[in-house]
Amino acid sequence: MKASEIRDTFLKFFESKGHQIVASSPVVPGDDPTLLFTNAGMNQFKDVFLGFDKRPYSRATTSQKCIRAGGKHNDLDNVGYTARHHTFFEMLGNFSFGDYFKHDAISYAWELLTEHFKLPKDKLWVTVYSEDDEAYDIWNKVVGVPAERIVRIGDNKGGRYMSDNFWMMGDTGPCGPCTEIFFDHGPEVAGGPPGSPDEDGDRYIEIWNNVFMQFNRTEDGVMHRLPKPSVDTGMGLERIAAVLQHVHSNYEIDTFVGLIGASKAAVEAAGGAGVDAASPSLKVIADHIRACSFTIVDGVIPGNEGRGYVLRRIARRAIRHGYKLGARTPFFHKIVAELAAQMGEAYPELRAAQARVTEVLKAEEERFFQTIERGMEILEGALAAGTQQVDGETAFKLHDTYGFPVDLTADVCRERGVTVDSAGFEVAMNRQREQARAAGKFKMAAGLEYSGVATAFHGYEHLACETSKVVAVYVD
Ligand code: ATP
Ligand code: MG
Ligand code: MG
Ligand code: MG
Repeated sequence: MKASEIRDTFLKFFESKGHQIVASSPVVPGDDPTLLFTNAGMNQFKDVFLGFDKRPYSRATTSQKCIRAGGKHNDLDNVGYTARHHTFFEMLGNFSFGDYFKHDAISYAWELLTEHFKLPKDKLWVTVYSEDDEAYDIWNKVVGVPAERIVRIGDNKGGRYMSDNFWMMGDTGPCGPCTEIFFDHGPEVAGGPPGSPDEDGDRYIEIWNNVFMQFNRTEDGVMHRLPKPSVDTGMGLERIAAVLQHVHSNYEIDTFVGLIGASKAAVEAAGGAGVDAASPSLKVIADHIRACSFTIVDGVIPGNEGRGYVLRRIARRAIRHGYKLGARTPFFHKIVAELAAQMGEAYPELRAAQARVTEVLKAEEERFFQTIERGMEILEGALAAGTQQVDGETAFKLHDTYGFPVDLTADVCRERGVTVDSAGFEVAMNRQREQARAAGKFKMAAGLEYSGVATAFHGYEHLACETSKVVAVYVD
């Protein structure tokens, strides 16, 4: 089954269960300043869950464009390292707004997976929130999943394992306990079952999360009960496609095979000779072209703050991976055509914006190719010394003079098992900011502070405010 057929099957299945098919919302949330990018199907229904907004339907189903490259859900550093994470992916979801609850949600999920997608039952594992006996009993007694494949998971307070069966969109907003469905890709893949110490492998892959929306978490951390308990689910299209196409990696599904082929061709045309089709860098490039293109479609352009800076960081990471493979001239923008061919039917806005997306990326590439070579020489010099940590001054110089976002520098270093002194980087950055301030010559641009949403930007507050040189608005 091709990814596009899986998407259709999912939507039609839930339509047959009385759900309204609703279009994906943009990846840039129009009216939610607490959110950097749309990170789940439920985002566009946030106010419906909270009881502030009413819809003419109480059940909905979507295929939602999601970006997880900042904020609470950030998978940027997983790309190229796991078989299951993307910065951009499609989340298939079904939603109940005060309509059905745990019993029906679990039964629908099981029916779709085992009867329509025909997944072998003994390869499916489920997790439930540790205190949720109701969900446990539905899985065990109603659906018939044996106890040895049901795992109770807490809210990860100890931080020992990755699993966390309490889902939150961000630091505030609708949230609740969840139950997750995992697929066992088999012993040839490394990794342990959910809840085990080696669960962070690619053997047991989480395919579907069913969240029982019961609370609204406000800024003071208080959990308020929602007017009506609801359901919010999310299944990664690329992950279920891998299962149904009998491959163990999202990067081997139909849509990615095309993108990786186009990435290889583009890199080779730009100077990379005989690129290995299995190179992790090609996966990164193929992933990043999706995230970059869909954010540009929704109006973001590369810049030095907020969303524009996230876009720039993703684009430059991709460009650096192409550079690593031998590209010496712009190549990244050339992959947009293949992406539009792959996804333009499901997302016509992509096709409509294809020329603009290509141009914006080309301009960003032309800019970065002016400094990447010199920057890489400096970084290679620092690494050649056999250091275990690149110092903050070097990272800052790369950032300030050569346009290397610090996470890009860290990405290069990670490949060599080296870290970056991020505290030292911050010190250098603050020093420059102070110097500029003392000079009394500048004023921070109004939009830079993102007042009121800083909590949603964990880890990026410092990146949102770039050096004075880059983002300050000089006023004489
Ligand atoms: P994981 O633990 O694998 O990082 P998650 O628990 O963070 O996933 P959820 O927030 O529960 O993911 O999102 C619902 C579903 O979306 C997941 O079950 C998975 O199928 C899919 N998904 C989540 N993150 C990604 C990603 N970065 N790339 C592709 N699919 C994803
Ligand atoms: Mg995750
Ligand atoms: Mg998870
Ligand atoms: Mg999950």
